Amino acid sequence: MAYLKLKDINKIYPNGFHAVHDFNLEIEKGEFIVFVGPSGCGKSTTLRMIAGLENISKGEFYINDQLANDKSPRDREVAMVFQSYALYPHLSVYDNLAFGLTLQGVDEDVIEERVYATAKILGLTDYLDRKPRALSGGQRQRVAVGRAIIRKVGVFLMDEPLSNLDAKQRVTMRSEITQIHRETKATTIYVTHDQTEAMTMADRIVVMKDGYIQQVGSPYELYFNPVNMFVAGFIGEPPMNFMRGIVDGNTLKVSENGMDIDAVVDLAPVLSAQLIEQYQGKKKVLGFRPESISLAEQDGCTPITCDVELTELLGDNTNVYVNIGNSKAVLKVDPHDTPEMDTELKFFIPNKHIYLFDYQTEKVIPTKK
Ligand code: ATP
Repeated sequence: MAYLKLKDINKIYPNGFHAVHDFNLEIEKGEFIVFVGPSGCGKSTTLRMIAGLENISKGEFYINDQLANDKSPRDREVAMVFQSYALYPHLSVYDNLAFGLTLQGVDEDVIEERVYATAKILGLTDYLDRKPRALSGGQRQRVAVGRAIIRKVGVFLMDEPLSNLDAKQRVTMRSEITQIHRETKATTIYVTHDQTEAMTMADRIVVMKDGYIQQVGSPYELYFNPVNMFVAGFIGEPPMNFMRGIVDGNTLKVSENGMDIDAVVDLAPVLSAQLIEQYQGKKKVLGFRPESISLAEQDGCTPITCDVELTELLGDNTNVYVNIGNSKAVLKVDPHDTPEMDTELKFFIPNKHIYLFDYQTEKVIPTKK
């Protein structure tokens, strides 16, 4: 029995806009689920339907196997953390944390105990007397998270909680939220457009686009076994490289303008003979991740020659932006192997790291792995 179950959930706003289509998901107790996708894909709408802040146009939402479509937000036992923090500016950190419990009529002693315990988890003990305006963005965000966890509800819903923080604070809060989840074991649904947050925090990621779920899976599954070009391009930084080509005999002739051949990929070690036969003359897309290439030749590789356009030394690696005929790609290499700009470079894609996609449907084609 799943703890939360979303069955064929749809959202059609009063203006007729269909924001979420047939959303199906079962969430186990204690899971950390991340909804990720570009702006406008329906992440917040789905989260708000779970919270009860937005009504469900079609479909069923169950909590503990009980239909919850019409339950009020209060009765759903959920706590929500917003991007805007939503703190009371005139109340101290202590009172902000205590607010929900005071409303519920919880005993003063119990409130005090819980406020101190929560402040300890979040490193806020020294700030309990301060007003929110005297806190940094990261500290305010901690108070917002604290207000959710102090209620000890079953489900935390977080909508882009880190987006107002600078890059460094985001990394710190990311690991703090993961740590809090480990301690509280509360079922968490976390919305972000940042694939790194999704990859580092989630037990399972739900990738969305245009109101539709694209794929649900662990970070590992999504990274190594994306079902389509959208997921392959969304998960991973820099994103997967894509190059169009035509299947000709046992090869994929990669060509952006249809005239000059940019690269030739031997398909025999990658695709079954049956599929190669079936795909003769068809357009397919080659995909490879910037980090899966090698500059040294090894067995079972596809060699590709390119021109180095630009290099970016990042410290632990260098991003190398290259032109392969009319195609562009980015390669991640060891900083000690950074090539000179405006030179020719040969690199190798191990066959096991080659992805192929259908040109029309953009769905992945099963390769020999
Ligand atoms: P973001 O990351 O920008 O917050 P999101 O994935 O959370 O995006 P939603 O806020 O869920 O996206 O919005 C999904 C779609 O629904 C968007 O196209 C948005 O414009 C539309 N939408 C949101 N609220 C309403 C509304 N009240 N009426 C009509 N359309 C809406």
